[in-house]
Amino acid sequence: MYKYRCSYCKVETTDINGLIENHKKDCTYRKEQEETFKKTISQKSHIDVNQIRGADETD
Ligand SMILES: [Zn+2]
Repeated sequence: MYKYRCSYCKVETTDINGLIENHKKDCTYRKEQEETFKKTISQKSHIDVNQIRGADETD
């Protein structure tokens, strides 16, 4: 049977166990997930972000 590994940090998914923290700290996938998480938080805490985006789209 194959064991699946993260294609970036090569940690086995059985060790990752669904937790982003279990990827290595320099893992590209982990960094991407953490960036997505930060963006989600900022969108929830700063409603003005949508207004800024709207202004950019009118350019
Ligand atoms: Zn990884």
